[in-house]
Amino acid sequence: MKQQTISQLISSIKRGEISVVEHIEKILEEAKQTNVMLNHFNIIAKDSALKQAKEIDAGLKTGRHKGKLLGVPLSVKDCICVKDIESRAGSKILSDYFPLFDATVIAKARAEGAIIIGKTAQDEFGFGTFSNNTGVGFEKPLNPVNPKRSCGGSSGGSAGFTGATKFAHGSLGQSTGGSIAAPASFCGVVGLTPTYGRVSRYGLIDYANSLDKIGSIGKTVEDAALLLEVISGHDVNDSTSLQEKVSGLSDLKPSSDLKIGIAKDFFEGCEEGVQKECMKAIDKLEKAGSKIEEISLPLNVKYGVAAYYLVSTTEASTNLARYCGMRYGLHDKIEGSFNEYFSNVRSKGFSQEAKRRILLGTFARMAGFRDAYYLKAMKLRTKLIKEFQEAFGKVDVIVNPTMPIVAPTFSEIEELSPMQEYAMDLCTVPANLAGLPHASVPVGTSKKMPVGLMITANHLEEEKMVKASLAFEEVCK
Ligand code: GLN
Repeated sequence: MKQQTISQLISSIKRGEISVVEHIEKILEEAKQTNVMLNHFNIIAKDSALKQAKEIDAGLKTGRHKGKLLGVPLSVKDCICVKDIESRAGSKILSDYFPLFDATVIAKARAEGAIIIGKTAQDEFGFGTFSNNTGVGFEKPLNPVNPKRSCGGSSGGSAGFTGATKFAHGSLGQSTGGSIAAPASFCGVVGLTPTYGRVSRYGLIDYANSLDKIGSIGKTVEDAALLLEVISGHDVNDSTSLQEKVSGLSDLKPSSDLKIGIAKDFFEGCEEGVQKECMKAIDKLEKAGSKIEEISLPLNVKYGVAAYYLVSTTEASTNLARYCGMRYGLHDKIEGSFNEYFSNVRSKGFSQEAKRRILLGTFARMAGFRDAYYLKAMKLRTKLIKEFQEAFGKVDVIVNPTMPIVAPTFSEIEELSPMQEYAMDLCTVPANLAGLPHASVPVGTSKKMPVGLMITANHLEEEKMVKASLAFEEVCK
């Protein structure tokens, strides 16, 4: 029971060994109990989940329900809109925002029989690497392996609960610069981030539009691949979504035929224990027959973090301008001029990190500084993508540690300056800036905490990402 996968759950539902209601009741109870300690959920959607479970059970009796996610409990990062369930992206400024519609990913998952069990904790609007920048009034989610340590962020609650639950379960996360891979690595679970545009962003509360992706988190590569397969595909409601056909990711088999590129420069910035565990996994795959080659991404290592934080904060600062206390979310007594009213609501509604990013981003795009910061970062972004393309001329996938460290304690995090925190994204931001699909797969432990290996493939080559991820999962069992 400990590691029940999604496909095992679906088989036992189909064989009639467990009803959907029974399974959902169990996982809701577990979520409620673990939440007291670990804070993985902002909201547990008990009533709506049970209602949906009953409908599916009734449908099963008449043979109506077949879906790829039949009866599967799905938790959802708070920034993804779910109809009639408060969706706040972890921010006080969106208090009482109950979307009138489901995000496209939610509609797709529901159509395949998934049941939404709740909204998971995150850094406010996705601004963070450790889920320590939760919005005003929110608790920090804690790591299920060691609650003194961070879950990683910003999809911290999603990865945390996936690691904590003993039941079959999947989660939807969001990544702008690594927020699926980072918490997956810290919590010892699998995170898959698609090519930018593969999955519709319709109904995602924006952080930075040219970078945001919705992806999946699961206990196994197969679980996460199945979820990603279900949510992928073109959507008329998102003009940046791609037309390309989506293949059956969940049917893939591990492959040692792929040529693996080791991004050595990223290893150098990582803790010794993390480097060791990742190299051990690569050695195992080499023994299993994979070809390994060292590659170099010097521009990405040197400029990735700086370019990312300029582009992402610039976009974030324009996105957050819509929260002024008039339309959505937090309202207050109308007093003084409009500007005074907006400032009052924003001062109360945004956390310190959101304010810092508004200031940074506004500065980077201001007349007089735009050329020197934002536009320069955008030019750099093109160069960084080109460097990846050259590397993909030689290898099928690129591997490096997902995070330079294992999950830190909260007191270690407190000692970091904002710049040091941003530097922790060294390994994850390049693939995100380039819009490349990438996975984080657990490959070992250091300091008794999980270590994740990041596997990046070229645009639209999710199949290669999944095949290599399955291969690493297999050799590291
Ligand atoms: N840590 C990065 C940031 O704070 C990435 C966050 C994300 O992907 N949402 O911007």
